Amino acid sequence: MKKTTLLSTLFLFALLPFQQLKAQDVTRKNGYTLTFESNYAAFDPALKKRLVETFFIVYPKLAKEYNPETSKQVTFFVDTAYKGVAATSNGRVVFSPAYMSKHPQDVDVVTHEVMHIVQDYGESVGPGWLTEGIADYARYQFGVDNAGAKWTLPDVKPTQSYKNSYRITARFFAWMQAKVKPGIIKAVDKSLRDHTYTDDIWKTLTGKNLDELWAEYLKNPAIA
Ligand SMILES: [Zn+2]
Repeated sequence: MKKTTLLSTLFLFALLPFQQLKAQDVTRKNGYTLTFESNYAAFDPALKKRLVETFFIVYPKLAKEYNPETSKQVTFFVDTAYKGVAATSNGRVVFSPAYMSKHPQDVDVVTHEVMHIVQDYGESVGPGWLTEGIADYARYQFGVDNAGAKWTLPDVKPTQSYKNSYRITARFFAWMQAKVKPGIIKAVDKSLRDHTYTDDIWKTLTGKNLDELWAEYLKNPAIA
């Protein structure tokens, strides 16, 4: 009897962390499904609500602008074991609860990350800085509260390069869109998805290669 009781107790304790891991709920809206999972019980419910709301605002817009065929099902996972800011693969975004709890205004981490789902480049034929630059450009275009997070495109410096990625590249793209060729980032994004991208695309679309465009950008970097 005693042995059975001990086993039952052990069994019960073994189940507890499992139940915590399985904390998830599903929201469906306008044909999109977001599954929200968390293994951090103390995650602020108001922040969770904002992350979910941000998804349903930005994801359909990103899909419409860049890739209507993008997955209709996305998972968010708040994972205490994850030590970065956020990362995305296979329709699943992992968030660091430590980062998000410390920066609750930075809800457009969602916008950058779900853009990676929309990009759907597979094994990309382009460089990594380009993928990240486009994701931050999309955040610049469609972010719901970049100002609240004090997230801006920083002024360019002569020591920088378009290969610096993220916001530095995003600002260069905003300049191209405004001053060189409207629709260019949309076209480049598409070429990455259908694997037709090569370095020549910039010259084909603008008459100049990336280095020439960057030199021109440094001379007159206004984006508005
Ligand atoms: Zn990214």
